[in-house]
Amino acid sequence: MSIIIAIDGFSSCGKSTLAKALAKKLDYLYGDSGAMYRAVTLYFLDNLVNYHEPAEVEAALTHIQIHFERLNGENTTFLNGQNVEKEIRSMRVSEHVSPVSAIPAVRRAMVRQQQRMGEQRGIVMDGRDIGTVVFPDAELKLFLTADPDVRTSRRHLELVGKGIDADWDNIRHNLLERDHIDSTRSDSPLRQAEDALVIDNTLLSETEQLDRALEIALKRGAEVA
Ligand code: C5P
Repeated sequence: MSIIIAIDGFSSCGKSTLAKALAKKLDYLYGDSGAMYRAVTLYFLDNLVNYHEPAEVEAALTHIQIHFERLNGENTTFLNGQNVEKEIRSMRVSEHVSPVSAIPAVRRAMVRQQQRMGEQRGIVMDGRDIGTVVFPDAELKLFLTADPDVRTSRRHLELVGKGIDADWDNIRHNLLERDHIDSTRSDSPLRQAEDALVIDNTLLSETEQLDRALEIALKRGAEVA
């Protein structure tokens, strides 16, 4: 049976690491909803869209096409046909993505696409509102948490690994600020779904976390590929 696995949580809690690993084990699609909000933000910044103006936002959204491709085994984000995987992870985008994601018109457009990706089930999607708004009927909902310093260090390592220069204190500030904006916005705030299982992975290795999640997924009807 193919199920839907929704993974939500604060910024840099290892959601995408877990989601990718689960998708690989189960041969499911991986949906990186954060990448979609990041791509929209990049478009707004590059095209000088004043995102405080609803009419400008609505018009810009009609020009935005986002799709994913696997390149060298990695999930890669494309914006209007261009590979933007590296650019969407930059601090420039990270600094604007939470206010952009709080705009209802942006959310409506992204949620529609995300739900289309899950029509056949067989998908692991990570984000902030996947278990509450995008797939409220997901067979498995996980909510990840981790200590903020551990999260900062993981993000720092990830950015350095991608050749992106970033200061540790800046990253920490950005993570906490995004958490605050994401949790307090009025449209689809980040919150734990009532039926979500919480995993605090501060002291868990990636393998331990994957084993734990996989065991639950199999109990919920997923089958290893
Ligand atoms: O997951 P990632 O950290 O790349 O997400 C970037 C930002 O996109 C988040 O801080 C949040 O503002 C927004 N986001 C969202 N809803 C989602 C996924 C991401 O609002 N489902």
